[in-house]
Amino acid sequence: MPLRSLPPFLALVLCACATTQRASLARSGASRLRDEEGPSLTAAPPPPTVEAVASEAVTGETLRRRLVRFASDAQAARASALPGDAMPSAELARWESVQTDVERFLAQEASADDVSAVRALLQAILDLDVRAYRDLPEPLLQGLEARLAALDARFLVASPGTVRPAGFRWPLSTVRVTSRFGKRFHPIQRRWKLHAGVDLAADPNEPVLAAGAGMVVRAGWTAGYGYEVELQHVDGLLTRYSHLTSTLVLEGTPVQAGDALGLAGRTGTATGVHLHFEFVRAGVPRDPLKEFKKLVGTSSPKVVILAPQRRTKKGKDAHPEEPGA
Ligand SMILES: [Zn+2]
Repeated sequence: MPLRSLPPFLALVLCACATTQRASLARSGASRLRDEEGPSLTAAPPPPTVEAVASEAVTGETLRRRLVRFASDAQAARASALPGDAMPSAELARWESVQTDVERFLAQEASADDVSAVRALLQAILDLDVRAYRDLPEPLLQGLEARLAALDARFLVASPGTVRPAGFRWPLSTVRVTSRFGKRFHPIQRRWKLHAGVDLAADPNEPVLAAGAGMVVRAGWTAGYGYEVELQHVDGLLTRYSHLTSTLVLEGTPVQAGDALGLAGRTGTATGVHLHFEFVRAGVPRDPLKEFKKLVGTSSPKVVILAPQRRTKKGKDAHPEEPGA
């Protein structure tokens, strides 16, 4: 994303992609180890104590509330850590306690929504920690790997048929594309640059909805893009919603698909009310009309393309909200 000025937090997230991959490898390595050495190692994560499991049932709502608090505290801990620091022992202890809560949660009936939200939150907090700290302890990674897999399995049982773990949807109740993803000529900078998302027609103050379950990793002002919200989803997916009149969520909080994130507007460099919507995989912006559309499937609303095909000559088809998006 050298395409725009990045807020410091986002820059941190994006600069750390290599670290994330390394951690993913470490985690998949852990899975492989378990597979090769048989079921005796599946108990590698420190098991919750018997009395802890028995003492309290953890409902989806309770766990989500605890994870929100954990996400917020973990963010504060990351902010005070120096690059290359190991995870503080207090944070490791919190992770232990979170894993115990997840076990208790899994020990009872749970809705697909709760399972999906818990999984997205765990993954998002873990991804941020992996980026922030030097190598995380292997038992922690293995424990979380096992819990994430258990949540995946539970989701498949809890959700009938077609819903996928990520459960994506379009961020507006009508989808009318007024500007496509792709290269276009920047009328102010006088050069070709990537329009890293799609523009969707929106009414003033129309609720902008979360495209999937995830965690708010950014909610605030970005030069050019105005008020925007950024969600971290599972599998290294991220969505971004720009030019909002106002945001309705706080950084570090979890959301479900369809939750209102903000109200559509024209803040930043925009000549009219619209939603600039980005879909990012592994740090790289992708065309929402291709990859994201596949995740959504064929469910409503129907996508209406109002934009002409791009790739016009220099100076033509000047994008209305440059240089923001
Ligand atoms: Zn745009």
